[in-house]
Amino acid sequence: MNIIRIPALTTNYIWLLYNYRNECIIIDPGETIQILNILNKFKFKLRAILLTHNHSDHVNGVDTLIQYFPKTTVYGPMETKNSGAKILVSEGDYFTLLQKKFTVLNLSGHTLGHIGFYSEPWLFCGDTVFSAGCGKIYDGTIRHMYESFIKIKNLPHNTLIFSGHEYTLSNLKFATFVLPQDQFITNYYKKIIKLRENNQPTVPTTIKLELTINPFFRCNHLDIKKSLNLSPDIKEEWQIFYELRKKKDSF
Ligand SMILES: [Zn+2]
Repeated sequence: MNIIRIPALTTNYIWLLYNYRNECIIIDPGETIQILNILNKFKFKLRAILLTHNHSDHVNGVDTLIQYFPKTTVYGPMETKNSGAKILVSEGDYFTLLQKKFTVLNLSGHTLGHIGFYSEPWLFCGDTVFSAGCGKIYDGTIRHMYESFIKIKNLPHNTLIFSGHEYTLSNLKFATFVLPQDQFITNYYKKIIKLRENNQPTVPTTIKLELTINPFFRCNHLDIKKSLNLSPDIKEEWQIFYELRKKKDSF
């Protein structure tokens, strides 16, 4: 199985998986022009669409793709029911597509019903984890987002994370602010500045890398507590996670 990264809208990534028979799956189609070009160019047969959550920049392409490929199966959480999902899935559900097993993880936080699709060694996590950062909280809760991060942390560390957006540069700017002494992050930030200057992608990332560069996976680090100027009552890791997300919102 191979994966194609399709940059879309301003910062989105749509992911396309295909096998040796040219059958393919698309994850979070927020638009269709480029998808249709690729499907045409490589003569791909669209078998399924996977949706992580119900935001327009992740679901707006579904209707058009279904018009072109009416036999496509659309998997998504309950919240995507009116955006075209026909097979509604939740935590623990699994199914096989293109001879690969996909397991559904509840990754609530960015939205209340947000899910991820795990197919070893890949995780399609939508707007939950971004490289060096964390999705914004819309109708989910910060506590759920924290629990989603813990769930992801517990996957094998060689897992590749396919996020829904290219936000690495601005996330690293924040990471160097909260972890100013961390030389690894500073060096990684320099590397990403160069990559982005040349319009190169920085996703997928790995859990192993994120545990090092992503402050949201490192809430208990002393430098973070210092930068956030936390009151001594704040001890629980999820509370620090909350303060960190709040700080990023106003950064
Ligand atoms: Zn979103």
